[in-house]
Amino acid sequence: MSFYAQTTIVALATPPGYGGIGVIRLSGVDAGCLAQKLLPAAKRNAFIPNQVVFQPLLHPETKQNIDDALLTYFQAPHSYTGEDVVEISCHGSPVVLAEVIRLLVSLGAELAQPGEFTLRAFLNQRLDLTQAEAINDLIHAQTSYQAQLAARQLRGELSIQIKPLKDALIEMIVYFESAVEFVEDDLDSLDIERLKQRIDELIARVKQLISSYRLGRLIRSGIKLALIGRPNVGKSSLFNQLLGKDRAIVTHIPGTTRDTLSEFFSINGIPVELIDTAGIRETEDFDEKLGVERTRTAIADADFVIAIIEAHQLPDQGEVELFAQLPIHLFVLNKCDLGVVLADEMIQQIVQGTPTAQVSARTGQGVDALRNRIHSALTADAQSFSDSGIITNERHYHALEQTLAAMQQATDDLAAGFSEEVVVVSLHEALRSLGIITGETLISDIINQIFTTFCIGK
Ligand code: GDP
Repeated sequence: MSFYAQTTIVALATPPGYGGIGVIRLSGVDAGCLAQKLLPAAKRNAFIPNQVVFQPLLHPETKQNIDDALLTYFQAPHSYTGEDVVEISCHGSPVVLAEVIRLLVSLGAELAQPGEFTLRAFLNQRLDLTQAEAINDLIHAQTSYQAQLAARQLRGELSIQIKPLKDALIEMIVYFESAVEFVEDDLDSLDIERLKQRIDELIARVKQLISSYRLGRLIRSGIKLALIGRPNVGKSSLFNQLLGKDRAIVTHIPGTTRDTLSEFFSINGIPVELIDTAGIRETEDFDEKLGVERTRTAIADADFVIAIIEAHQLPDQGEVELFAQLPIHLFVLNKCDLGVVLADEMIQQIVQGTPTAQVSARTGQGVDALRNRIHSALTADAQSFSDSGIITNERHYHALEQTLAAMQQATDDLAAGFSEEVVVVSLHEALRSLGIITGETLISDIINQIFTTFCIGK
């Protein structure tokens, strides 16, 4: 089934501003006809699908030359939107581009709403909802890893992962419904056992996808990484080393970093918000007290906590006791350039099995290895998900949770000996929830929400 829009829409597809070129996109039943009205009369049949023509653009009434442009015509349904599309590459002058768009509107085109090209592509089944979302993710990717995942989703990887689940659910629904329809086909206990097993297999697969979201969320939204430790252990210095620039103030006076600082960088493609906190120490100084409180808040918010201790001198007992109460993912022994005096047993007593890394925030020694350690700790389970799909989108995650709940309800109903009619309701609910991910279950609020986050021209 294809969607039929009465209107032809137009928008600038490249960012606004000055540039080498600017591309205007037209989509809809009149796209070819409207674009040709800007060409010289003798060239009005110049369009051949998928071929670029170089033509002057003329004012339709005054015949004044506006620009020389490259025009590409894509004939429906073989275009991005599934409709007739013309892309007009003009010189990247905001004045020229605005004039061409104004003329196309005066000829009958409508200005496109945000995401309307992709919405039309979705309604024409040129792509499903996960692919439409992937386009937005790809455009807004901030790291190459995010872009890679978005590109995989755009190729339909998530839909491919979900398809066997849907097929299996449909098969089961048909099976149960035929049992309802034809009483003589009543399910015997062997059938029920087999179906229970089948649902359990599906549940395991849905759980696997759901658990990949922990990693997917990290890749998509990034993580908050907090650096904690006593004043003067080198938090600010390490903060600067990790960022590769001087952001935090480094001094030899304890307690300089009174406030928390934060900066964004990426560790092998994972966006990281690095939070440098004021030193943890019980103190009477008002400002520092505030800093200590902020440190605790930062830890509560952080996805990954690094505690820093000095390698060349013994930590005080209070510090050791405090660390034992905090959720620390990695201990860094700093100032290794001054020598490591802490004996292994002493280190073990402090870190209690938590991984450690040795660095010198002054010389940079061990900092690359530390980055790799953080990355491996964050992506420890990445390998196990890379072939089975990684969920990066919260909307998909919630839909999968709903699917899981419905499937679990179906197994509970089966176990409780409920009739086929009851079980089949939950299976339908599971199928409906899966359909929300790809857009087969159409919920207009969701569709609106997704496409209004797009920019105009996409
Ligand atoms: P913070 O209070 O924990 O943020 O510590 P800073 O980063 O401000 O560092 C305190 C002092 O220790 C400064 O004089 C730094 O130059 C020094 N420092 C930091 N890291 C190292 C290191 O790895 N080796 C040496 N020798 N000194 C360091």
